[in-house]
Amino acid sequence: MNNLMAKDQNMDKRFDDYKEQFVLALWKVYPGWASSVGYHKYDNVLVVPDALSREREVKFNKEQLEQLKKFKLSDLSDANKTDYHLIENQLHYAIWGITDQKAWEWDPSGYNVCGSFADMLGNDYEPLDTRLHNFYERMENIPKYYEAARNNLKNPTKEHTDLAIEQNSGGISVFKDDLWDALLKSHLSDAEKAKIMHRARLSVAVINNYVDYLKGLKNDHPRSFRLGKALYDKKFGFEIQSGYTAQEIYMKAEAHKLELHSKMLELTKELWPKYFPKTPMPDNRLYSIRLMIDMLSQKHVQPDSFQTAIEHQLPELVAFIKNKNLIYIDPSKPLVVRKEPAYMAGVAGASINAPGPYDKNGNTYYNVGSLAGWPAEKAESYLREYNHYILQILNIHEAIPGHYTQLVYANQSPSIIKSILGNNAMIEGWAVYTERMMLENGYDGDRGISSTEASPEMWLMYYKWNLRSTCNTILDYSVHTRDMSKEQAMHLLETEAFQQHTEAENKWKRVSVTQVQLTCYFTGFTEIYDFRQHLMDSQKDKFNLKQFHEQFLSYGSAPVKYIKELMGK
Ligand code: ZN
Ligand code: ZN
Repeated sequence: MNNLMAKDQNMDKRFDDYKEQFVLALWKVYPGWASSVGYHKYDNVLVVPDALSREREVKFNKEQLEQLKKFKLSDLSDANKTDYHLIENQLHYAIWGITDQKAWEWDPSGYNVCGSFADMLGNDYEPLDTRLHNFYERMENIPKYYEAARNNLKNPTKEHTDLAIEQNSGGISVFKDDLWDALLKSHLSDAEKAKIMHRARLSVAVINNYVDYLKGLKNDHPRSFRLGKALYDKKFGFEIQSGYTAQEIYMKAEAHKLELHSKMLELTKELWPKYFPKTPMPDNRLYSIRLMIDMLSQKHVQPDSFQTAIEHQLPELVAFIKNKNLIYIDPSKPLVVRKEPAYMAGVAGASINAPGPYDKNGNTYYNVGSLAGWPAEKAESYLREYNHYILQILNIHEAIPGHYTQLVYANQSPSIIKSILGNNAMIEGWAVYTERMMLENGYDGDRGISSTEASPEMWLMYYKWNLRSTCNTILDYSVHTRDMSKEQAMHLLETEAFQQHTEAENKWKRVSVTQVQLTCYFTGFTEIYDFRQHLMDSQKDKFNLKQFHEQFLSYGSAPVKYIKELMGK
């Protein structure tokens, strides 16, 4: 017995060592990724995306897969088991991307250096002079970088070509005004400044060249932006790591949409006399629901109290959760609300800002945007979207018990692997799950912390919100594997999901340049919800919601299918 224990611990120790060297090796092969998560040793390196570098990547990932084979999954701790799965998935995903998906051939927007250079100027993780020095060295490969890009491209899609033109032209200012401003603030000598400016001018010319090349590209047989079923299914597997197939999730989303519509119709009937006492309800069901949503959306805060409204809700959420015994909220880790920092100015709404894996002392903030200075019409339309009801759901999702609470639990067993390879479907799925869970337990800001039932208004608006992630899934799958036309997509988003025209147009644009990501919210939500239902059915009155939540979150940001495995044993 003792021997066995010792052996197990040994295996975990060896695996911890392996993970450490894996991550360091990873950063060497992917220096841009390293910089983006706050590891700055390779800031001065820009990898030229040519055949040689792809070969090197494939070799690296294959070698690491061999290394992984030395560990027996069953000998590892739960935390290491899930890390093992995440690493293995990442290695296969990276190889598949190069050999099968081949976006490097058809997606010109994959070639854009501007963002990574902008990060070097915008974040002060090191003295400005050091960052500028790295900036200079990193610029060296820009000509070779874009030359390789041109050599790689074969019949790229029209949509990704347009995106590449837009993003590369848009990002170029980093080598002009932004860099100039930084140089003025620096302590570099005039000679050094001149050297940097010279290379920056060359970089601007190279990027402009790439943009002109794309604009003039003779591309009579562009590839379709639709990924196609075979690649889509694979990508869904790697990206979402779900226990369901893409098609199963799509069918669940279709069924869920109909279920939401019928619940929304019931609520609309119930609320109709209260809000439209003199008008009979129209025959068209979806139209009636839309009228009710528009009516309820008029209830919203004034632009100048947007931030305070959000701030006031957080302690109420905590009190409600405590009162209902839903999940333990660590009082020593209160969420710090801050007004959006200057570099985010103009982005309204609220989002969690967590420190990266290398930023040990960083705080987690809840950034809340201000609508100050917005034109009245823009502010009004925004506030109708984030109205009285939806704002409460947003707080649940982003903060408590959504993303922020999940993060606090994840940090109890810190894992560098989970912070760089964490499963997005689990993270978003948890946040979407908590919206529903809070309402099921009676949460309604207007009814206080002992409320046992949310109002019909709250439910109706929640369903509208939930329709968004449901229809995102239907849209993504249908567009990429079933040839859904733009007209059909607009019908789905505007008529069936009650979205504004601009929102629907933006979503169409997004689905034509991304694949699979839009499904992560609904997939994670469905997996968690179904899993809980399964436990409730089998455990009956022994099921304890608080215990379920705490155990579920204790595994960190791992794919739901592995959490299910670990909780079920
Ligand atoms: Zn208004
Ligand atoms: Zn989210």
